[in-house]
Amino acid sequence: MKKTHFSNRSTLAAIVVLFLLAITQAISAQTKADIESAINEAYTKYENVTEGKNADYIPALAEVDSKIFGIALITVDGTVYTKGDLTSKVSIQSISKVFTLASVINDLGPDIVASKIGVDATGMKFNNAEFVERNKGKQGNPFVNAGAIATTSMIKGADYNEKWNTIMTLMEGFAGEKLEVNQPVYESEAATNQHNQALAFLMASFESMSWDNLQTTDLYTKQCAINVNAKDLGMMAATLANGGTNPVTDKTIVSPETVAHVLSVMSTAGLYDDSGIWLYRTGVPAKSGVGGGIIAVVPGKFGIAVIAPPLDDAGNSVKAQLSIDYIIEKLGANPYLVQPR
Ligand code: GLN
Repeated sequence: MKKTHFSNRSTLAAIVVLFLLAITQAISAQTKADIESAINEAYTKYENVTEGKNADYIPALAEVDSKIFGIALITVDGTVYTKGDLTSKVSIQSISKVFTLASVINDLGPDIVASKIGVDATGMKFNNAEFVERNKGKQGNPFVNAGAIATTSMIKGADYNEKWNTIMTLMEGFAGEKLEVNQPVYESEAATNQHNQALAFLMASFESMSWDNLQTTDLYTKQCAINVNAKDLGMMAATLANGGTNPVTDKTIVSPETVAHVLSVMSTAGLYDDSGIWLYRTGVPAKSGVGGGIIAVVPGKFGIAVIAPPLDDAGNSVKAQLSIDYIIEKLGANPYLVQPR
């Protein structure tokens, strides 16, 4: 009698477990299908958009194929969803600023960046110098060129090579892949970056630089020339979404606290003078680069990256903005969007 009672209970428990498993499977299958269709739809919808124009103030960027269009969405459990061109690589450009900022905050803590450079939106174009003069090198942020160069000047290492190694190791940790510098882009920008050199000297005049001005500008120029495809960028974004631990290699690259600070700067300053309108539309921290990439992060859920070189006037990829905006909305992934209980 007792035995029967026991086995009835375990049968019931088994049924409940199976039922729950079936529900979980159905939910995740549904989510998978949702993600796939969101990406596919965005691709088809925006594939033929011809608005925007490749950056050309760095001569080598004008020559990049403006038809490249790749999308990668990677969840915090390491599932990779892709569509379009996954093989073409572009230079990471300003998206690199996210990772040098992460490196500096992780090594030195958040306060020094806030006090020496600032974490406020400038409302100005990315290479603007006026706000540096006006605010005496402070109250800018690490994602406009002046602040980014000053951030790179704080990278750990005794000399150029050690600092470069710090940057590369961190970027590769985020991407979970070996990365390389796009030599023609690096040389092209190094030959034409006098404005950035001037920003470094201007920042130094306000004691906002922590290392040699010209070597730092060169290091910064090289970090911007690291080559990435959509999947590399998607994984870097997914590592941010996963609190600083790469969801595929399972290696911890930076702390969750570092990521929280980095994401807040991405929210206020990730798309330069269009950061406000971007956050208003999507609610997600993102970062663009003039190479044509944009990454966006839905904390605790997924990272997404799109590469499409033609840019709008603010210097942000037109197709990448459209696609990410579409996918976030389609998946209901705006973190500020909460359904009442
Ligand atoms: N390397 C570029 C520059 O310094 C990066 C700018 C960007 O991507 N917005 O101008």
